[in-house]
Formats: sequence, C-alpha cells, structure tokens
Amino acid sequence: MKEIKKVILKKGVHTKIVRGNPWIYDNEISKILGEINPGDIVDVYDNSNSFIGRGYINPNSKIRVRILTRKEEEIDKDFFRERIIRAWEYRKKLVETSSCRVVFAESDFLPGLIVDKFEDILVIQTLTLGIDKFKDLIVEVLDEIFEPRGIYERNDVPVREIEDLPQIKGPIKGDFEPKVIINENEVKILVDVENGQKTGYFLDQRENRRALKGLVDDAEVLDVFCYTGSFSIHALKYGAKRVLAVDSSNTALEIAKENAKLNGFLDRIEFIEENAFDLLKNFHKEGRSFDVVILDPPAFAKSQRNLDNALRGYKEINLRAMKIIREGGFLITCSCSQHVSPEIFQKVIESASYDANRILRLVEFRYQAKDHPILFSYPESLYLKCGIYQVLKKL
Ligand code: SAH
Repeated sequence: MKEIKKVILKKGVHTKIVRGNPWIYDNEISKILGEINPGDIVDVYDNSNSFIGRGYINPNSKIRVRILTRKEEEIDKDFFRERIIRAWEYRKKLVETSSCRVVFAESDFLPGLIVDKFEDILVIQTLTLGIDKFKDLIVEVLDEIFEPRGIYERNDVPVREIEDLPQIKGPIKGDFEPKVIINENEVKILVDVENGQKTGYFLDQRENRRALKGLVDDAEVLDVFCYTGSFSIHALKYGAKRVLAVDSSNTALEIAKENAKLNGFLDRIEFIEENAFDLLKNFHKEGRSFDVVILDPPAFAKSQRNLDNALRGYKEINLRAMKIIREGGFLITCSCSQHVSPEIFQKVIESASYDANRILRLVEFRYQAKDHPILFSYPESLYLKCGIYQVLKKL
C-alpha cells in the first residue's frame, strides 16, 4: 500500500469528528506531514497522535479534509461497492425505489457524491475533487449493482469551481435518450436529466407533495414557483378543482404544461409566467383568493452573508400568500436554504402571520424525503423545510 500522508488536528477538534462529523476546516489543522497533492487520501490524527479517520484532502478548499472512513481500510472499488450497497439497502427499506436518491453524499458516508435514479437511468454528481478522482471506479460499481440503461453526469454545478473542477455534463455510460417518465406517488412526471435543474428533478419533495392529499379536495390551488408543476399535478390528482401554476421561467412552464398533459389535467390547470413577488401583491390588490397556496421558492439564502435579505424575502411571500388564502384554507410553505434553520424559518412564518393579521394552525412540519437522510452529527444535511399551516382569521 502507498504511504498515506498524515494530517494532525488542533486540540479539541477531534470531538466532532469522533461524533460523526465528516468535515475538517483549514483552521482546524495543526500540521500536515509530507507533501500533499489535491485529492490525496490522508490519515487524520488527533493532537495526541491517535488515528481518527481516513479521508481526502483539497488544499484549495476551506473544507480541507472530508472523512471517508474511521477505519484503516483501503479506499478502493470494494470500499465504494460496500458503501453504495448500504445506501441502496436503506432506500429499499424506506422508499419506493423505482425513482429515488440512491446516494446523498455525506449522509451516506460518501462525501461529495450524489446519485439519483430515475427508473433505469442513473444521474451522478461528483462535487469535490477527492470524490471526482474516483468517478470511473464509482461508475463501474454503479453499473454492476444497478445494470442501468444509462448513466448521466450532471457535473455542471457552480460548487465544483471551489474545488477547481470543470463544469461538465453528458452521458458517461450507454447511449440513451436523456428524458424519462417517472412515477411519483400516484402521478407521472417527465424528467429531463440533461436540462432539468440539478440532476433533472427535485426528488426531495416527493413526500411533501404526497402530504397534499386530504388538503386539496375540491380546492382552488395556487402553486407558486411551480417549475415541473409536480405540486400542481399532485393537487389535481388529489381532487383540486382548479390549479393556477406560476413561475418566472417560460421553460419551467413548458415542462409543467407537458406534465399536466401527461396526466390528463390540462382542462383544470392554468399557467402564468410572472415574478412571484409581483403576482402575490397584485392578487391581494385585486381581491383574488385561493383555498390552498403552495410556495416552493429557490434557495433565497445561498450563504450566511445574505441571510437577512433572504429572510425578508421569505417573510414577504408568506405574508402575501396568507392574505389571499380563504378562511380555513392551507399554506404549504417551503425553504430549501440550508442556512435557514427550521427554527428560524418557523419564526419568519410566525412573524408574517402577525403582520398578515391571521392565526396559523400547524398541521405538520416536514423535511426532505427519507432518501435524503439527515444526520445529527452533520447538521448541514438538513436543508429542506416544509410547513403546512391552516390559515384562520381571528375569532
Ligand atoms: N416546486 C417545484 C420546484 C421549484 S424550483 C417542483 O416541485 O419541482 C424554483 C422555481 O422558482 C424555478 O423553476 C424558478 O424558475 C422559479 N423562480 C425563481 N425565482 C422566481 C420568482 N421571483 N418568481 C417566480 N418564479 C421564480
């Protein structure tokens, strides 16, 4: 075996690593023994020289080391096979696996690696240099375990730039049409793995979309930030009378329209291309109202720095939505910003309800789907929040 370089941590840092956190920041390292190349496998020691884990290093990233294992084991094909099979077994136990997230990076003890399965197509992202170096090996393993029709790479993601990795996308195994129809809950959705956002589709909302069941019977629904229209289609499937789907992107609305057609709902859905902030304001002015409003915006807080602005944005859309919800109707409100904790998000919703002069009754507070597991020892793994509230006037 090749000699493995040593990284020694500063005093006290080992606790979080021992507890299960996989990230070591640049300022948590006391010394590195030997010459390091970006992406190298390194052994991590605490300041009293005890081995605590093995991971990969990138001297160009603030997150300098990501732990892969807490054993002195070889990082090779067998290692990846065992980890991916474990991740797959978890999905087989907990979710419908025809389409699901198979590997959710750090949450599946494979930092930097995302694998989504859309029927017989796999989409992968290798987001860090350390994991990107194993891409070919990982593809081989995936091919052996899943025998997919094709594997597609969606490495056109800005975070790769932090790791000095290029933006690339395209098929890496098989020659196939990069569009696939998946079954989600009780509806059909067309997934475009080449041009769709992220890996092609937001699988993380699957269980939250299903939570519409029972809330939308005979309802008039407003689906804001609709993108693929998946919430809209679910609402129609679960008995909504009519849905108005809104997005500022025409391309998104075209996809939503295709999905509505695929499910035979074109006669009960309308589409509007508009900025959500303007639309919600105008609807209030015009006295328009709905039984159910769904808000699923993009991440407003991309970093800790713009948190205040982001919170103002969340408050504004939620306040405006509450004002146009009919008495006793429901607000389904999401935030996928990892920098906004569930507590902060709930505070924003609470504060919006006071300004909107409404009383909110919490029906359910939900998170990302089960195939995007959350680790206590790695709080960054919790990013999606979905609050379902009944909106009431004061009695
Ligand atoms: N609800 C969707 C995912 C939404 S992704 C689903 O279930 O698949 C966020 C969407 O918000 C994107 O499609 C983007 O085009 C849209 N968007 C971003 N800013 C917007 C704005 N200011 N007004 C309306 N839509 C916006």
